[in-house]
Amino acid sequence: MMTAEGAKGLRVTFWGVRGSIPTAGAEFARYGGNTACVEIRLGDRLFVVDAGSGIARLGKALLDDGTPHVDLLLSHLHLDHVVGLPFFKPALTPGRSVTIHCGNCDGQTAEAGLARLFSPPIFPVTLDQLPADVRHVGFVAGQTLLFGDGAEVRTHRLNHPQGATGYRFTHAGRSVCYLSDLEHHVSGPDPDLVEFARGADAVIYDAMFSEAEYCRCVGWGHSTWEAGIAFADAAGAGQLVLFHHDPRHDDTAMDAFAAAAERARPGTVAAREGQTLVYTPR
Ligand SMILES: [Zn+2]
Ligand SMILES: [Zn+2]
Repeated sequence: MMTAEGAKGLRVTFWGVRGSIPTAGAEFARYGGNTACVEIRLGDRLFVVDAGSGIARLGKALLDDGTPHVDLLLSHLHLDHVVGLPFFKPALTPGRSVTIHCGNCDGQTAEAGLARLFSPPIFPVTLDQLPADVRHVGFVAGQTLLFGDGAEVRTHRLNHPQGATGYRFTHAGRSVCYLSDLEHHVSGPDPDLVEFARGADAVIYDAMFSEAEYCRCVGWGHSTWEAGIAFADAAGAGQLVLFHHDPRHDDTAMDAFAAAAERARPGTVAAREGQTLVYTPR
């Protein structure tokens, strides 16, 4: 029987789609310039993935709608994925709670790493001074995360300097993978990661570069839209969603990448800030 929550399906809202550094300017307005932050709703159940600069606006929305608790899943601690956290209003508000999950610190929590960001003179408030109830959970990428309310999120280690964690969310017969940041292997899609994403309705994929650009960026820990297509095809996935856009790619460049990718694999989109993708129950 379909529940009211199930009827809402699995929804993905992009609050930040950029990699490396927030990027302002009219020429970036349509795709958006904030760094990685994605809201995932499994019915009414909220997860936030990554705390790039896009999380500041999401925090305002979550404060205004009275959301009492946020589970924040970090892919890793590179600056573009945590730089918005000091400006995430739910963490700055008494009576709210935030649990920060991190899987690339050898099983330790992200607390020690984040304490270096929440540290004068870089930021005036230390982690233990945050007014909200902020907790830290460490895991090893590859584990399945179990939450007290029955929610489950699968995880997988990604090929990236200092490691990163990919996530797979499943709800009401639908599933979405978040795979950023990762570098592909020149030999082809990673078989373990392909199995992790097998049959997903959508794959949000680090498509920072094109193949033509990649030869100058080998070892930086990022992938290409062409490798994303090969990966999504190998996994038998539904929609490919290009993500972690290069800050050098303005809207004109993004339009060209998105159009080329859509021609090569119909249904592919390049994520835009403010965009919501809905995967209805089945
Ligand atoms: Zn990144
Ligand atoms: Zn990174």
